Amino acid sequence: MGAVPSDIEIARAARKQPIFEIGAKLGIPAESLVPYGHDKAKISPDFIAAQKGRPDGKLILVTAINPTPAGEGKTTTTVGLGDGLNRIGKRAIICVREPSLGPCFGVKGGAAGGGYAQVVPMEDINLHFTGDFHAITAAHNLLSAMVDNHIYWGNALDLDLRRITWKRVMDMNDRALRQIVGPLGGVSNGFARETGFDITVASEIMAILCLATDLKDLEARLGAIIVGYRRDRTPVFARDLKADGAMAVLLKDAMQPNLVQTLENNPAFVHGGPFANIAHGCNSVVATRTALKLADYVVTEAGFGADLGAEKFFDIKCRKAGLSPSAAVIVATVRALKMNGGVAKPDLSQENVEALRAGCVNLGRHIENLQKFGVPVVVAINHFSSDTEAEVAAVKAYAAALGVEAILCRHWADGSAGIEDLARRVAQIAEDGTARFKPLYADDLSLFSKIEKVAREIYRAGEVTAERAVLAQLRSFEEQGYGHLPVCIAKTQYSFSTNPDLLGAPSGHVVPVREVRLSAGAGFVVAITGEIRTMPGLPRSPSAERIRLNAEGHVEGLF
Ligand code: ADP
Ligand code: MG
Repeated sequence: MGAVPSDIEIARAARKQPIFEIGAKLGIPAESLVPYGHDKAKISPDFIAAQKGRPDGKLILVTAINPTPAGEGKTTTTVGLGDGLNRIGKRAIICVREPSLGPCFGVKGGAAGGGYAQVVPMEDINLHFTGDFHAITAAHNLLSAMVDNHIYWGNALDLDLRRITWKRVMDMNDRALRQIVGPLGGVSNGFARETGFDITVASEIMAILCLATDLKDLEARLGAIIVGYRRDRTPVFARDLKADGAMAVLLKDAMQPNLVQTLENNPAFVHGGPFANIAHGCNSVVATRTALKLADYVVTEAGFGADLGAEKFFDIKCRKAGLSPSAAVIVATVRALKMNGGVAKPDLSQENVEALRAGCVNLGRHIENLQKFGVPVVVAINHFSSDTEAEVAAVKAYAAALGVEAILCRHWADGSAGIEDLARRVAQIAEDGTARFKPLYADDLSLFSKIEKVAREIYRAGEVTAERAVLAQLRSFEEQGYGHLPVCIAKTQYSFSTNPDLLGAPSGHVVPVREVRLSAGAGFVVAITGEIRTMPGLPRSPSAERIRLNAEGHVEGLF
């Protein structure tokens, strides 16, 4: 088998088509595209509004088993499946998230897919792209500046300096800024208080941008952001500071979906990128809805494993945006299943059918969980070159015993030609129309009962615990009129439990809710279980050390 070149080498060799031609394939006239160079464009709000009456295509979710350091390839498979559907003659668009600079320069790398299933221009998408994240950073920090300025000029709203929840953000992994004291330096700088920075993708504004349906809704949600509380614990909103209008102005262009292409010149929307723990972890509602108007099939990805990503996609995004998915694809790899079966990372390249079978319980649990949402499931085995025939056969047999098909996919090495079988099966399932999507819980359940429902039914916990103060806080959210909101549970992505080392399919564990936060603008209540970082750090040897410009001025080391 020939060696596959690096992601960036493949991406650079792509034969891209001008972005107007990609738009034309979707029936988007040139005047409705706002080009950013030759290979990226935003779609105008007027064009999007004009599509309202058109019928929707079918929505396909790509999710995965619990992530391991072995890597699963959700984005790669999303891109591959979109190309595969186009290859078999279907009109398909993929919808994925924009990468954050933090992980690009840290340990994970970029997020434009991999091998022969990528979106391009890969360097731009992974770096500054069309400036959306910079706009979100600016809008967030404008509100931060207005909070401190309001206090400086007398604090007429009576904000309690100890209860300001709105921090600052930056799109970088920088642990030095997690917790800071400022402003320092005397009377002319304001009042010192404890605060800190989050990474931009953890900003509530990122979640708002991804859930807002249009610019009007965006502005209303920005106004509903809670920046902090008074001594009597009543909330102070962004609209009280009159910040919502200016923030919406900064976000005007960032709200519009970005059109790019895959290596095979098929259309892709890359837009928005909220965290999948303290936020819902999917691309924007505007991009997904617009894609559904323009294509017969829309393939989209949810973050992390299905316990976090798919649950939030269904219970937050689909519920709020009125979306109804036709099928879900669970990406699994032989390597990750072996890790779930107890194999250590250095030994993953050796055949081990027994460990693989043991690890399949993780896949089985996710299959059962997704079926609870009324969505038909198919498994994509993302093929790695070290996988053996016996191992692939074992995964297929395991899924078949649960009444689900597992299909081998070689899109990473072969592009769309390697994923035709999955594309055909997904199209068939969608055409059969057997999906009966329903969220896991009703809006009118109490907030704590919603957390319990997700913990018991999806994480398979035996019990959910919370301190009295946490329960009181949930009750106060309900009294303030936020009881109807969905819950967004922040939990480790590595395990069904709150212990990242418990692989496989643990059950009966305790889920302790340590803290709850109201994201009133985004429209969900965050429940934090365990240690969740909203400002990551860099590893001992960050990828940034290996990223550089070569003699031709090309970027090296991005992956
Ligand atoms: P996720 O979306 O699940 O985080 P990605 O699709 O971004 O994962 O893939 C993570 C990394 O794994 C990428 O660098 C990609 O090139 C690599 N990868 C994905 N699938 C394969 C495969 N079948 N063989 C080898 N490497 C792969
Ligand atoms: Mg991804």
